[in-house]
Amino acid sequence: MDSDNIEISNKVRVLIVGAGLGGLVLAILLEKANIPYLVFERAVKIRPLGSAMQLNCNILPLFEQLGLYDQIRAIAKNVRETRVVNHKMETIGSIDASEVEERSGYPVLIVQRPELYDILVAMIPRNKIYMSRRVLSLEQDASIVKIRFSDNTVAQGDILVGADGAYSAVRQSLFRQMKLSGDLPESDQEDMTYSHICLVGTTLPVNPVKYPMVLEADCKHIILMGDKAPYSLWCFTVPGNRICWNLTIQLKKETSKSDEAFRNSEWGPEATESMCAEVAHFKSPYGGTLGELLDLTPKELITKVMLEDKLFQTWTNGRVVLLGDACHKMLLSGGQGAINAMQDAIVLSNLLNELETTQLDDIQSVLQYYQKLRYKHAEYNVKASKQLGKALMGQTLFEEFFRKVTLNYIPKFVIRKMLDRNGVYRPQSTIVPQVPVRGIVKAIPQSPSWQTASSMASTSSSSSLRSVTALTRKRLRSATSSSSATGSKSTVSV
Ligand SMILES: Cc1cc2nc3c(=O)[nH]c(=O)nc-3n(C[C@H](O)[C@H](O)[C@H](O)COP(=O)(O)OP(=O)(O)OC[C@H]3O[C@@H](n4cnc5c(N)ncnc54)[C@H](O)[C@@H]3O)c2cc1C
Repeated sequence: MDSDNIEISNKVRVLIVGAGLGGLVLAILLEKANIPYLVFERAVKIRPLGSAMQLNCNILPLFEQLGLYDQIRAIAKNVRETRVVNHKMETIGSIDASEVEERSGYPVLIVQRPELYDILVAMIPRNKIYMSRRVLSLEQDASIVKIRFSDNTVAQGDILVGADGAYSAVRQSLFRQMKLSGDLPESDQEDMTYSHICLVGTTLPVNPVKYPMVLEADCKHIILMGDKAPYSLWCFTVPGNRICWNLTIQLKKETSKSDEAFRNSEWGPEATESMCAEVAHFKSPYGGTLGELLDLTPKELITKVMLEDKLFQTWTNGRVVLLGDACHKMLLSGGQGAINAMQDAIVLSNLLNELETTQLDDIQSVLQYYQKLRYKHAEYNVKASKQLGKALMGQTLFEEFFRKVTLNYIPKFVIRKMLDRNGVYRPQSTIVPQVPVRGIVKAIPQSPSWQTASSMASTSSSSSLRSVTALTRKRLRSATSSSSATGSKSTVSV
């Protein structure tokens, strides 16, 4: 690895771990801001889940700012309704999203995730993404942060962003150190639990005679609730006569990766195949069985995932900060996990763009302000996705009842209010020109800049922005002695 082509500037040098949607959007925005960065991804090549992805007014303004809106609309279908049916194909209820575009200024779009990735990856210079770089651990002191990879090489910078997903190695390494020093809150020490497993895939183009819904201009989004087995099967039509499907199976009890049951189970390709065989007879909301959709889906586009759910309290410490699923993992039912990861990237890059020093105090203050700005929005979405999960995936008697009430008896004006509430948070990048705020529902005003916030905080005696830094600095100094990066084959600096 070499770093000869990295421009030297007085801006911070950022290491991004993970080329998921959060990491990629951060890289795009840092590129626009001319902030030095590198992305490190463990996979040999970027291989997103072959699933559908919902995008709405919470993130589409950013794509409009980046000049990508038309490109994204070209690979998308609009979702105006989500219908929930039982195994006899009788409608249990539906969510009407037909007014969302008028009210929020943007449609609800469904795209195939790999196509969205292609658009985003094309905006990042290839020499700034290092593939096959699996991060194992981190070390930081008052002046630098280092990450060590599985091949024993090292990279160093001023800030480390853990955008490495639900089982983030950055988070685990950071939390191990914080636990040793007694700084990790109790709830962050608990395992992440999951109550659903999920099989997802996207078919090749299907025969419109058998699946006429693929010819409709809008996405036909139907969820079928299983009868004897505790499953829900979500189907979406996407451009190119293809069908994205998600099968979720509710487990009898919440479990975690460290549970015996998990350790004894297999999660490799064989496990995916055996799960496919077990569920092939499940009914599909488009008629026929899931097996028929599986037959039309290339094996490499089928993935088995767990659906965890946890909001971590600690998002940052010293020079390290977390983003996306690494700090707030939410159920897929709200269609908000990736949107929140990308919103994190917007807010974080806006703040990093204001940072003209590499001083730990300032870095720490900016990273804490990032968490402060983002935490309550992520918290809202973790909770909302859980509630929606009860209605759209739940299989207990109570959840069945809750589903019927939610989808049938909540007055239209309340549903409209809930949809409006979801749409008010639309952060924009301050690095690229802003786009007008669209729609008839007022958006939450853009957050104050870090400089404005810190000048306000410095006039207050109870400034949370400044109080922690001295303590952190002291801790980092004492950690320095035990954290030297010896024995590595090579080091890359941003
Ligand atoms: C079936 C399904 C459907 C979904 N639908 C939606 C939707 O419609 N809308 C929505 O907003 N969200 C949706 N989500 C949620 C969304 O997928 C996640 O919230 C989102 O992908 C999180 O992005 P991220 O960048 O934080 O992490 P990830 O996408 O998990 O990316 C993390 C990256 O880090 C890499 N990595 C991990 N460990 C290391 C390491 N040690 N070293 C280097 N690299 C590493 C991984 O390989 C990966 O590329 C859905 C989720 C599922 C499972």
